[in-house]
Amino acid sequence: MGRFQYFLEYYFFMTFNDLGLSAELLRAVSDQGYSQPTPIQAKAIPVVLEGRDILAGAQTGTGKTAGFTLPLLQRLSANKPSQKRVVRALVLTPTRELAAQVSDSIKAYGKHLPLRSAVIFGGVSIRPQINILRQGIDILVATPGRLLDHVSQKTLDLSQVEILVLDEADRMLDMGFIHDIRKVLALLPKQRQNLLFSATFSREIKQLADGLLNSPTLIEVARRNTTAERVSQVVHQVDKKRKRELLSFLIGSQNWQQVLVFTRTKHGANRLAGQLAKDGLRSAAIHGNKSQGARTKALADFKQGKVRVLVATDIAARGLDIDQLPHVVNYELPNVPEDYVHRIGRTGRAGNEGQAVSLVSIDEQKLLRDIERLLKCEVPKVVIEGYQPDPSIVAEPAQNGRQKPAGGRGGNCRNSGQARPKTGRNTNGNKARRGNNSARRKPQASRVAPSA
Ligand code: AMP
Repeated sequence: MGRFQYFLEYYFFMTFNDLGLSAELLRAVSDQGYSQPTPIQAKAIPVVLEGRDILAGAQTGTGKTAGFTLPLLQRLSANKPSQKRVVRALVLTPTRELAAQVSDSIKAYGKHLPLRSAVIFGGVSIRPQINILRQGIDILVATPGRLLDHVSQKTLDLSQVEILVLDEADRMLDMGFIHDIRKVLALLPKQRQNLLFSATFSREIKQLADGLLNSPTLIEVARRNTTAERVSQVVHQVDKKRKRELLSFLIGSQNWQQVLVFTRTKHGANRLAGQLAKDGLRSAAIHGNKSQGARTKALADFKQGKVRVLVATDIAARGLDIDQLPHVVNYELPNVPEDYVHRIGRTGRAGNEGQAVSLVSIDEQKLLRDIERLLKCEVPKVVIEGYQPDPSIVAEPAQNGRQKPAGGRGGNCRNSGQARPKTGRNTNGNKARRGNNSARRKPQASRVAPSA
């Protein structure tokens, strides 16, 4: 089949009816307003329905949750549960927010089926979770730590699990959950279906997959940074001490109404949210030190437009599903280049246009180069008038990114320059043109952070 036909097949003609889903699930999908499966759904659903293991390379934003949830619900509803309800499907996620989102999706897609699901994660009282588990559930979504707490308190039986989903497995490993994952695996029956989702495929992920999956079908959809021609990217070089001022200026002058801003530290997130609030911008911070209640409230306020700027650390923001988020700002570049891809994946979701802006100080040039090596392209650089970096400032040693070869499936920065504000000038001093990728600044040797 030619590429064009292949394209037609997936994007124009394929419907949910073609995937072998039951009437109840088709009804739920239509209730959600989805007209066509996304590529990951088109590829994963038939394979999971056949009961096969999958190793899927897909990020949040591709529709992967429905990709595993719909066939999982169908398989569970086809097999009659034993007399007493026990957990038959287990979904492990790295963060509380992602767990809550996956759980919401399971409830939405399974609303016409007689299956019960629950979500458990840390940071909230364990008591109500024990009560829910006691009533018997079919599908459990959990973060690894709290799951093991329940196992040690003997409030959870995992001996009947038929389907295991590891969602965002790369992030689970990044967060140090590998030992917990291995403990959980040891509690599950040997005979089961395994679905592993990961945005990146490091050696550790491959090792985990080798030990876990049984002749898996490999499913890949384009990475967010390749599909996301809809995400335009731009770097504004600026002195560190002027970043906050520039951010306020961009939000105000561009009239951004919903902005997700990333900082590297929890303290930095708090401080920035406070400063922005002083600038008159309704802001909230979301990070691991906040109580679950505060995190949920901040997210809800942001989604409802009560909060205009949500400042987040990487871990807190992981998996956040905020529809049609138009702007993501990297207030500080992440130490790990892959996190840049995850961050900008918050915007341009499910087919919407998005804009990813990075404020980069001279200390962060090494981090920027690591990111560009991963993306296999240069992100256009635009200096905002009045915020030109002071050439007399020398780089302080910056924390460098993970020193590993930037291999993997690279992306491209096509369609980038669109992020540039109207007032922007490129670094050649010319008026910035849309899509002008040639406006790149070669960092001068004296201004580059020393490589570690
Ligand atoms: P996910 O990658 O699972 O986090 O999904 C990202 C977003 O895409 C969510 O807001 C979903 O509700 C939405 N979505 C999932 N499947 C579809 C579809 N087939 N059509 C339109 N939107 C979808």
